[in-house]
Amino acid sequence: MSFFDRLFRKIKPQISCPRCLGKGQVDWEDIKRLNQELKWRPGPCAYCAGSGEVDSEIESKVSVDEPYLTSELSAEERQKLIDNESEAVKKAQLYDAQMENLIKQIAYLHFTGKLNSETIADFYLLPMLETAHQHEAYLEEKEELVNYINKVIEKKK
Ligand SMILES: [Zn+2]
Repeated sequence: MSFFDRLFRKIKPQISCPRCLGKGQVDWEDIKRLNQELKWRPGPCAYCAGSGEVDSEIESKVSVDEPYLTSELSAEERQKLIDNESEAVKKAQLYDAQMENLIKQIAYLHFTGKLNSETIADFYLLPMLETAHQHEAYLEEKEELVNYINKVIEKKK
């Protein structure tokens, strides 16, 4: 990056982050407002990287509710997505599609297949059952998954 690029980047107008409303943290209220209850959890805001402010052009680059842009991404991957690099954009599309598919599958298994959330969780955790010595990890995973499945069922009612 040249000196002028850097200078330009610095003087670009900053606005309060539209995802976390300037808090630097995304909470359940933000998540509900952006309709991402099935895709995000509260935590540091990945849109502004926790600073509470973003460059005013960011919204034309990455949508504020882009599901893939979470604090689980590395700083490098976040920047690639903001810079619209095709590999990062493809990863985001794939991730979004996988999330949507999972939600659709859970809704189908429950509303059409008439399975309860416990049974649906067992179905997704079948591969884990084979390693029974990890029983505690299994139970923990299952509890988390059942909670998630219940959220999907509630939302898709
Ligand atoms: Zn933010």
